[in-house]
Amino acid sequence: MSSVKIPKIGFISLGCPKAGSDTEKIMTRVKTQGYEISSSYDKSDVVVVNTCGFIDSAIEESLNTIDEALKSNGNVIVTGCLGEKRGIIEERFKNLIAITGSEADKEVVDIINKVAPKPHDSFIDLIPKSGLRLTPSHYAYIKISEGCNHKCSFCIIPSMRGKLASRTPEDILSEAQNLVDSGVTELIIISQDTSAYGVDFKVKQSFWDGKPVKRDLYHLAKELKKFGIWVRFHYIYPYPHIDHMIELMDEETILPYLDVPFQHASPKILKSMKRPADAEDNLKRIQAWRQINPNIALRSTFIVGYPGETDHDFEQLIDFIKEANLDHVGCFEYSNVEGATAKLMSDQIPDIVKKERYNRLMETQKTLSEQKLKSLIGSIQHVVVDEVTNDFALARSFRSAPDVDGVVYLKDPEGLMAGDRLDVKITGNDSYNLFAGPLDD
Ligand code: SF4
Repeated sequence: MSSVKIPKIGFISLGCPKAGSDTEKIMTRVKTQGYEISSSYDKSDVVVVNTCGFIDSAIEESLNTIDEALKSNGNVIVTGCLGEKRGIIEERFKNLIAITGSEADKEVVDIINKVAPKPHDSFIDLIPKSGLRLTPSHYAYIKISEGCNHKCSFCIIPSMRGKLASRTPEDILSEAQNLVDSGVTELIIISQDTSAYGVDFKVKQSFWDGKPVKRDLYHLAKELKKFGIWVRFHYIYPYPHIDHMIELMDEETILPYLDVPFQHASPKILKSMKRPADAEDNLKRIQAWRQINPNIALRSTFIVGYPGETDHDFEQLIDFIKEANLDHVGCFEYSNVEGATAKLMSDQIPDIVKKERYNRLMETQKTLSEQKLKSLIGSIQHVVVDEVTNDFALARSFRSAPDVDGVVYLKDPEGLMAGDRLDVKITGNDSYNLFAGPLDD
C-alpha cells in the first residue's frame, strides 16, 4: 500500500470549447503523471484557472474567478486567452504562481511539477523517475529539441518533424537531475540541430534551482556542468558561438568532444546541400577550437556522391579530411530519399563512382585514425566500462561516444562491471580502437 501523498490539482475552465479542450489536455497530462484532480478549491494543492478574454464580460468573469480562487486557495496558475493580455491580470493580481497564454498545456504542467512535485512512488508508478531507457544504466541520451529550421536538400526531417521546438532548460535539467539521481554518470545531448537550441524561445529566460537561466545552449551547458558528470554534445554546427562552449570543456564535466556533421568540404556542394553554416571556414573553426582546448576530440560524418559532386569537389573533401585530422569519421554514399529536393537534381552520380569515393575517403581516414591512436600508446586514460565479455572489457575515454566511435579494449576484465570507471595504460591500437592494460603493466 502506498504511503505517498499525491498532490491534488483543481481546474476552472471558462470560455469556448477550444479553451475547454486546452483544459482537458492539461488535465490529461497531470493525470498521466499520477496527480489527482480535485473539484474543490480548498482541497487542491494548486488551482489552474483557464480564462477567456474574448469580450469585456468574459474578461470580467475571468478576473472574478481568479479573485475567488486566490481568496479560497492562494496557489493559482492562470492560463488561456486572457493570459495573452497579461497586463490586465498583473494590474489586479500580484501574487499568482504564473500566467501563461493559451495552448500552453506543457508549460502549465511544468509549473505544476515545480510547485507541487509529485513524489515518485515505486509501488504505483509504472515508469521509473528517470523514465524508460534503452541504454545501459550508466549513460543516457537527452533530446533537447525536436524539429529543425533548416532545409538541407538531402533531408526530409523538417517536413516530418516540423520547425525547431526547444525544450525549456528547467524541463531538460529536471530530466538530467532524475537521471543523475538514478545513477547515470554520462549524459549525451542530442537533437536535430543542437547549436540552434533556444533560438525559438520568445521568452529568453527560465528559472532553475531558484535562479534565472538564459535559454540558450551555452547557459544550458553551464547548468549541466554543475552535475559534475560527463556531458557530451552531438549534432553541433560550426557557428562562432560554439567557441564559448569549448571554453566550458574539461575531461570531467562538459567533455572536450564534439560531433559536428560537416557532410562535405566543397563550398559549391555545401551551398547546394543548403547546409547550416555553409559559409563558415570550417578548418579555421577547428583550429580555433583546438587553440582553446588542444585535447578536443572531433567526430563528423560526410556524404560522398551527392548530385553534381565533381572530382575536384571530392578532392577538396579529401584535402579537408587530411587537414582536419578528425578523431572519428563516418561516411555515407549519397542516396535519394523520397521527398528530398536533391532527388530532383539532374546530375546524379553513378553508384560505382560513389563506391570508389567512399572507399578512398575511408582509406584516407583509416590511416589518419591509426596515426592518431598510435600517438596515445603509453598514455594513461580515464575510461568507463560499457560492456564486459569473457576476453575483454569494452571501455571508452572522453574521446569516444557509445556505439558510434572506437573503443578501448581492456584485457583481464575479471571483476569489472559496466559503469565502472578506472585509469588504464594504453598499450596498442588497431585502425579505430585502442588496447589497454592496468597502470603497472
Ligand atoms: S540534415 Fe539539415 S535539415 Fe536535416 S535535420 Fe539536419 S540540419 Fe535539419
